[in-house]
Amino acid sequence: MATLRRSPSAWPLSGPTRLTRTIIKEVLERHGLDPSRALGQNFLCDPAMVDKIVRLAGVGPGDRVVEIGPGLGSLTVGLVTAGANVLAVEIDKYLIPPLTEIVGPAIDDGTVRIINADALELDWAAELGDTPAKVVANLPYNVATPLVLDLLCTQPLLTSFLVMVQAEVGERLAAAPGGRTRGIPSVICEYWGVASVVGRVPPQVFLPQPRVDSVLVRIDRSSTPRVDAEFSDVSTVVRAGFGQRRKMLRRSLAAQLDEDQIAAADVDPTARAETLDLQAWGRLARAYSSSRC
Ligand code: SAM
Repeated sequence: MATLRRSPSAWPLSGPTRLTRTIIKEVLERHGLDPSRALGQNFLCDPAMVDKIVRLAGVGPGDRVVEIGPGLGSLTVGLVTAGANVLAVEIDKYLIPPLTEIVGPAIDDGTVRIINADALELDWAAELGDTPAKVVANLPYNVATPLVLDLLCTQPLLTSFLVMVQAEVGERLAAAPGGRTRGIPSVICEYWGVASVVGRVPPQVFLPQPRVDSVLVRIDRSSTPRVDAEFSDVSTVVRAGFGQRRKMLRRSLAAQLDEDQIAAADVDPTARAETLDLQAWGRLARAYSSSRC
């Protein structure tokens, strides 16, 4: 949690406010809060970057947006200004009073709903109901990958994601076959949709500044999985393949498929996991499925 140094005093703002570095410092000071490193609290303090994120997310009037980790509301205000309805999930109870104050009337008129909860534990299906939504978030770095993958795999109503993440994490989510950044998250993302890095973000736009660079990743969910294979089978072979990524597939997949079965799936048994495209993983997943019948 953000450290509470003293009781907050009341200083209501009149309405949605663009959060600059000066305003963020002032709000933190007035509420007696220090940002928590454990919760990845690096607040956006550059309204131009907020506008860029909203634009890249393609958010417009009437869109339903899920924001994970609204913090003090830098991005929430940008989303509301663009005309979105926002469901904001924030784990830190100490941030709820300043967030409520900053987002102000948008909560009163139902445009913004704030839930004080851990996004990793939330009953998303219950909160989302049956309306599609876009995820737009400056994600806490320590939970970014599990959160994005979990929501991609379990919440089909979340149709697109525009997330700010640590550069290394974003590059792995969007990695094409052939490089060292290709990994389990890359293949899982590709199974559900199309992922790309759409922008780079310098540390200077945050308060406090993180030690690492960030990127903006956009993921557009496809209407059906992008390869004809059960997700559980794809997940099994991909996890086995990348679990021992330096080994040839004939070794890393030995518990799932023998060399002849790998070759029959039109995959080179001496190849390594990072070289395979999604179609090849799909063929291996189908072979694994057949082998169990
Ligand atoms: N969106 C704000 C911004 O751009 O200024 C804050 C972004 S900050 C990088 C990440 C936010 O996620 C923090 O407010 C933090 O408290 C919150 N957070 C961290 N872990 C979380 C979790 N598991 N569920 C929900 N929120 C979380």
